[in-house]
Amino acid sequence: MTAEKKTFRIQASGQQKMETMEVSVRKVIHYTRDVFELQLERRQIEFEPGQCVAIYLDDEATFREYSIVSGTDDRYLGFLIKHLEGGIVTEYLQNREPGDTLKISSPYGWFRPGRQHENGQFIFIATGTGIAPFLSYMKSFPQNPPLRLLYGARQHEDLIGLKDLQQAGMVQLAVSREEINGLHHGRVTDLLPTLPLRQDIHYYLCGLDTMIRDVTYWLKNHGTDSRNIHREIFFYASHS
Ligand SMILES: Cc1cc2nc3c(=O)[nH]c(=O)nc-3n(C[C@H](O)[C@H](O)[C@H](O)COP(=O)(O)OP(=O)(O)OC[C@H]3O[C@@H](n4cnc5c(N)ncnc54)[C@H](O)[C@@H]3O)c2cc1C
Repeated sequence: MTAEKKTFRIQASGQQKMETMEVSVRKVIHYTRDVFELQLERRQIEFEPGQCVAIYLDDEATFREYSIVSGTDDRYLGFLIKHLEGGIVTEYLQNREPGDTLKISSPYGWFRPGRQHENGQFIFIATGTGIAPFLSYMKSFPQNPPLRLLYGARQHEDLIGLKDLQQAGMVQLAVSREEINGLHHGRVTDLLPTLPLRQDIHYYLCGLDTMIRDVTYWLKNHGTDSRNIHREIFFYASHS
C-alpha cells in the first residue's frame, strides 16, 4: 500500500476513534518462510466472517488491518499474515510469543463473503493471504459452501487451509511459480473461463489489487452486474 493510502487509512480510522482492547497472544504458527498465523485470545469478541480488526504496535498510533481467519465458533481469534520484508507491523507480529499482549480494535468492515449463504449461489476468488475471510466463512458455515472457490498463490506451500477448503463445492488451485501435478500452473485469473456465469451468482474477491482488477474486468465484460461483485483489497501489486 502506498504511503499516501496508508496515512489516509490511519487518519480516517483515527477519526472514528475505534474502540480498542488488550488481548494475549495464544500462539504463532509459522506455515512457510513468510506466512504465519497469529492466534489471540478470543474473550467475548463477536464477529462475522469477512470482518477485520486493527492490530496496533506498542506506540498505539501505528496499526494495520487484518481479516479474521478463524471460525465464529473457534475459541481464539486467528489471523493469516504475510510477513513483508521491512514491513513495520508484520515484522513485529511475527516475533510475538505466547503470553505477549497486543492492542486490537473490535471487528469491523463491510466485506461479508457468502452473505447469501441460504441459497449458496456464490463464488470465492482469492490470492495469497486473501484466503483468510473465505477460510473463516468455511469454518463458520461448512454446511453452506460456495459453488466454487478459486485460490492462487506463488508456490504450493503458500496454499493454506486446504483441508477446510475441501468442503467447498469445487476448489480450483493455481500456482504461478512452480509446476505441481494436478494444479493449474499460472495465475488464478487463467481459471476464469471455467466459472459459471449467472445473474443470481455473487462473486467475492480478496487479495492482491491486480487480481481483483482483472477479475472484476472479466466478470463485467461477461455480463455480471457490479452489484454482484464484492471486493476486499489487501495488497497493492506496485509494492510486490
Ligand atoms: C481490510 C484489510 C484487511 C487486510 N487483511 C490482511 C490479512 O488478513 N493478511 C495479511 O497478510 N494482510 C492483510 N492486509 C494488509 C495489512 O493491513 C498490511 O498492509 C500488511 O500486513 C503490511 O503491513 P506492514 O506494516 O508489515 O508493512 P508496511 O510497513 O506497511 O510496508 C512495508 C513495505 O512492504 C511493501 N509492500 C506492501 N505490500 C507488499 C506486498 N504485497 N509484497 C511485498 N511488499 C509489499 C510496502 O510498500 C513497504 O515498502 C489487509 C489490508 C486491509 C486493507
